[in-house]
Amino acid sequence: MQTRENVQKKESIEKKEKIGCQYSKKCGGCAYQGITYEKQLKEKQKIVQALLKEFCKVQPILSMENPYYYRNKVHAVFDRDRKGKVISGIYQEGTHKVVPIDSCIIEDQKSDAIIVSVRKLLPSFKIKIYDEDTGYGLLRHVLVRRSFSSGQVMVVLVTTSPVFPSKNNFVKALLKEHNEITTIIQNVNDRNTSMVLGKKENILYGKGYIEDKLCGYTFRISSRSFYQVNPTQTEKLYKKAIELAGLTGKENVLDAYCGIGTISLIASPYCKQVAGVELNTEAVKDAINNAKRNKIENVRFFQGDASEFMVQLAKDGQTLDIVFMDPPRSGSTEEFIDSLAAVKAKRVVYISCNPETLARDLQYFKQKGYDAKVAVPVDMFPWTDSIETICQIVKK
Ligand code: SAH
Repeated sequence: MQTRENVQKKESIEKKEKIGCQYSKKCGGCAYQGITYEKQLKEKQKIVQALLKEFCKVQPILSMENPYYYRNKVHAVFDRDRKGKVISGIYQEGTHKVVPIDSCIIEDQKSDAIIVSVRKLLPSFKIKIYDEDTGYGLLRHVLVRRSFSSGQVMVVLVTTSPVFPSKNNFVKALLKEHNEITTIIQNVNDRNTSMVLGKKENILYGKGYIEDKLCGYTFRISSRSFYQVNPTQTEKLYKKAIELAGLTGKENVLDAYCGIGTISLIASPYCKQVAGVELNTEAVKDAINNAKRNKIENVRFFQGDASEFMVQLAKDGQTLDIVFMDPPRSGSTEEFIDSLAAVKAKRVVYISCNPETLARDLQYFKQKGYDAKVAVPVDMFPWTDSIETICQIVKK
């Protein structure tokens, strides 16, 4: 319906499309700058269609109504420019050069503002920026996560050393400027690596985690746990995934690569029981807490490699009805799929953030007697070239 509100929204999107992003040439994070949102959706649809057409039909991509400022997690790296002035921003794609950015069209605006405040506060507390070449300096990165539903904000200060001399006063000053911050964490990363976060953490303020609501459930998120970055689209993704699983209340379900247990919890009222498996120890702790927090009793979580877990299930002679799988970009493994067939799973809902590895895995599924029925792309990352796809796979 053409309401006044809809017309205004459309006009505002068109205006933003015309202005585009001032950093796009230097940054390189958004592959689709300079073309309309409509056009990028068509491109993404075409890419998925080309990769998956030999396996199944591809439904129209689920688009985002207002494809701006959607990222609930913002990561900034710190450096100095040629004049020695401290800058914050992101690495230019494929390099270690920092592009100074104060606000980005796909990042949460409040989180961006917090990063600017951190940068402006540094000189008065004599906090030095880490220099990759000399290894000298304290602050490496700042990560901000904000829950759009609860408003809770987590700030992670990644430092090279656990010794942070002015930390109490720094925390006070930051909170004074941003009273919306609910927790501040110091993460120590003293290694020369491209990983942002190290293993050691000190909670400087608050509980050390934030809570967000998705599909009616409350999720606790720690600094190092994986959490979907676009909550609006994540709800669409999860609802579609549950729909494609066709649960009746009787099923024995596995949620593989489960992160903090989001899919497990959301699926739990529609099946008999869910087991979630996840490699990241922190995420598993979050998942266990999330089940308790939401008073859900038919889910269990296991820490470990998803393929090893599946192989063990098959060895133990167990069976499964439905498997949700949401692997990282590299996709799943042949061992995982072999064992999935051995435990006689009837239906699989594969959530993929890389349609190329999805196509490779679908080929292997086919050899094992599993056919893809339908694929649904979901635009989780407008303006970037990342494509998320859900695929329903059924045992012949
Ligand atoms: N389904 C979750 C997480 C998806 S991201 C969600 O929607 O939020 C992929 C997850 O796989 C991450 O949490 C990552 O830590 C985990 N992971 C990566 N490799 C793994 C492996 N080999 N076995 C189990 N989990 C793995």
